[in-house]
Amino acid sequence: MALDGHCMCGAVTWTYSGDVTRNLVCHCADCQRATSAPFTAFLGMRPEQLGWTGDIRHYESSPNTFRGFCPSCGTRLYFRSNKWLDEVHVHAATLTDPGEYQPHAQVVMRSRAKWLDQLQSIPVHEGFQRDPAD
Ligand SMILES: [Zn+2]
Ligand SMILES: [Zn+2]
Repeated sequence: MALDGHCMCGAVTWTYSGDVTRNLVCHCADCQRATSAPFTAFLGMRPEQLGWTGDIRHYESSPNTFRGFCPSCGTRLYFRSNKWLDEVHVHAATLTDPGEYQPHAQVVMRSRAKWLDQLQSIPVHEGFQRDPAD
């Protein structure tokens, strides 16, 4: 499988060639906090088959656990940990074409945001709820 992606500003890009080792939505509290989002989705990739370009910083969110991000735009790029030395978890939202993405599992359901269950029953708008100012 060949995959590629980039951060919001394009300063960081990645390419991958190989099998995806895991594909999941994570509901853990650390991912919620780190991404400022109710959950995130990861694709597990073999480090030796994953290539990066651009400047990447990382934050050590717990001992020997690193969360990479683009220092220009702040986009979260990956999670890696000594607990899973043979894979890097790349944020699926950074895929060049995230529209076709399909997760295979959800993990850490104990901290899943409860309001996600209500999304189907609240009003929806194709664009903004109110038009932005000019
Ligand atoms: Zn960027
Ligand atoms: Zn997580």
